[in-house]
Amino acid sequence: MRLKNRVALVTGAASGIGRAIAGAFHREGAKVAIADLDSGRANAVAQALDASGKTAMAVAMDVADEAAVETGTAAVIARLGGLDILVSNAGIQIVAPLVEFTLADWRKMLAIHLDGAFLTTRAAMRHMQTTGRGGAILYMGSVHSKTASKLKAPYVTAKHGLLGLARTVAKEGAAHGIRANVICPGFVLTPLVEKQIPEQAKELAISEEEVVKSVMLKDTVDGEFTTLADVAEAAVFLAGFESAALTGQSLIVSHGWHME
Ligand code: NAD
Repeated sequence: MRLKNRVALVTGAASGIGRAIAGAFHREGAKVAIADLDSGRANAVAQALDASGKTAMAVAMDVADEAAVETGTAAVIARLGGLDILVSNAGIQIVAPLVEFTLADWRKMLAIHLDGAFLTTRAAMRHMQTTGRGGAILYMGSVHSKTASKLKAPYVTAKHGLLGLARTVAKEGAAHGIRANVICPGFVLTPLVEKQIPEQAKELAISEEEVVKSVMLKDTVDGEFTTLADVAEAAVFLAGFESAALTGQSLIVSHGWHME
């Protein structure tokens, strides 16, 4: 019970990595808010964790929408009795060569990944600063926070940007006991990645098996995908780590794909 009596808001928690983190936090004793654009799936995830609604709730939230973030965060604080942990995780992927990227797709990517991180951080920090209880903020970065790949210009840009945001939050939040860190996973088999395999095969004119072997897992030490459990365990560790010895950091969870 490493997170007993904490309240966590996890964005993009109706699927994939966010859902796995919310589940792990709940098992560790936290009350969790499942925030997602897809309110139907968010409801189902929250219900599966606690049908009584006492320790898990769903929040309909587009993280790029200022009003939705403000209203959703306030609802979580009111219903679950505070907010101690934010996981800014919601994200999408659009792959294309840079010369073919539309401005609309570029803006959409930066809005979800960066505006979303800013808006949820601001709402969480305002609350954490007034209570004096401090808190932990985690950003879902990526190995693409550290390195680049072809076809992913806005994703790589946004994921690098999260490092800067986390470091600033670490400095501004320190006086209030707020820590901020980034988790940088390698490829995890979620709907976001499953969608990319055929897309990349088409763009690179290779088979789907080759995309997995020669593009996605090429530089891992064991040829394995990073798992949901790998990422969730890193999130529990960082959320539960009490002191500011670990703040402003980024933890790469990628089966050795990227080392530094
Ligand atoms: P996923 O598609 O399984 O889940 C993403 C969730 O975010 C979905 O439930 C979706 O409805 C929600 N979402 C999308 N836009 C939203 C918005 N505007 N507001 C609120 N919710 C929104 O994807 P995933 O693989 O679990 O990805 C989660 C995060 O992890 C993303 O930030 C992604 O970039 C990052 N990441 C994923 C991988 C990977 O290999 N899967 C690796 C590194 C980082």
